Amino acid sequence: NVRVRFCPSPTGNPHVGLVRTALFNWAYARHNGGTLVFRIEDTDAARDSEESYQQLLDSMRWLGFDWDEGPEVGGPHAPYRQSQRMDVYKDVAAKLLDGGYAYACYCTTEELDSRREAARAAGKPSGYDGHCRDLTAGQIEAYEAEGRSHIVRFRMPDEATTFTDLVRGEITVQAENVTDYGIVRANGAPLYTLVNPVDDALMEITHVLRGEDLLSSTPRQIALYKALIELGIAQRIPEFGHLPYVMGEGNKKLSKRDPQSSLNIYRERGFLPEGLLNYLSLLGWSFSADQDIFSMSDMVAKFDVADVNPNPARFDLKKAEAINADHIRMLDVKTFAEACEPWLKAPHANWAPEDFDEAAWQAIAPHAQTRLKVLSEITENVDFLFLPEPVFDEPSWTKAMKEGSDALLRTARAKLEAADWTSPESLKEAVLAAGEEHGLKLGKAQAPVRVAVTGRTIGLPLFESLEILGKDKALTRIDAALA
Ligand code: GLU
Repeated sequence: NVRVRFCPSPTGNPHVGLVRTALFNWAYARHNGGTLVFRIEDTDAARDSEESYQQLLDSMRWLGFDWDEGPEVGGPHAPYRQSQRMDVYKDVAAKLLDGGYAYACYCTTEELDSRREAARAAGKPSGYDGHCRDLTAGQIEAYEAEGRSHIVRFRMPDEATTFTDLVRGEITVQAENVTDYGIVRANGAPLYTLVNPVDDALMEITHVLRGEDLLSSTPRQIALYKALIELGIAQRIPEFGHLPYVMGEGNKKLSKRDPQSSLNIYRERGFLPEGLLNYLSLLGWSFSADQDIFSMSDMVAKFDVADVNPNPARFDLKKAEAINADHIRMLDVKTFAEACEPWLKAPHANWAPEDFDEAAWQAIAPHAQTRLKVLSEITENVDFLFLPEPVFDEPSWTKAMKEGSDALLRTARAKLEAADWTSPESLKEAVLAAGEEHGLKLGKAQAPVRVAVTGRTIGLPLFESLEILGKDKALTRIDAALA
């Protein structure tokens, strides 16, 4: 039975790399009929907040993830918030100390720093030098008498670690590169290095899929697992798969500070969860050589961690938008219209709520649906329907209202007045004919009409837009532009 976990720390906005990790774990669990455990790693009181925790849950729900054990759903290994499991870690730390797998280390930060510098200067490995590994009872007593505090340090075995990474294949790390490491702070607070593998062991996790940035902690965790197995706390060492880095601008790792990395931005701009997840799944994985667009159930059917590519993946906003546009087009029009409502009815929509015209919206929605990359673009595309006057966009006006535009607009107005306003074809004929009289092709002839009516040079198909706006309003706007 496959048991995977998603275990973020609630420290601010979730970022896209984290979402990709959640997605791969979720897909792996679902593909294998396994269990997804959602655990909150909130042992760092200084950085974790209740607000971030709520935001994290809300984001996970918005993305459409479900989990089998964790917050809100409970499970046999509850609680799933590490801040509520402190007794567990205290108990395990005591057992590790008792069994000699860990020891009290009295070195001060200054001592550690200066010895590390000296080692570096001598060209030696600069990890912990084992100073407190085998202190005698007398030495311990002396340190205690000095009033020194101690951390708990895990004793690494003096042998190389080899494991088979599910993404990267066999990896061997020499002992001198992984030295004894702290697992409990001087104030008694357990560290990530302890709580993460302890919970993975107790929660019977079988596969750890996580970011490449954690690869260096894996040999340490494997050693800790071995100790936990000897102590009867763990049953087995899980398998590990390290997902590739996500690179941003300038081929640098996408960092939490990058605005592009924040999940909320995508949500606010109106990415569909399915569109965003479809794109994020391609960061290190592919569906097939010739298909980039697929649903999450298609992904689940195909996903295997063995197919993940170890090379860094480049985050490409344009591609993300193009994929999202495809997902917008795949909605049925009713769902699309509903999905746009938060933007259409938001306080920042620049028309008054009473000016929102439901019938006009239903009529224009299918034309808008094929053109949006993200849902937030809807307001600028349809505001001409709801505003008493079109937005006055200076550059658009200057661009469209060149020499001779007045004359053309006058002709177009006369022909439009005589046209059949129940047929976009008839409106097109009118503008086409007006253009011919002035020696202009349709594209050039329709620009001033569009700007007069919608305020912009680009937008939804013009003749459908005119029909939906209605004859009176459209002609009044053309008159206003001519005045
Ligand atoms: N809480 C850790 C993080 O967010 C989890 C790392 C892991 O998956 O082991 O980085």
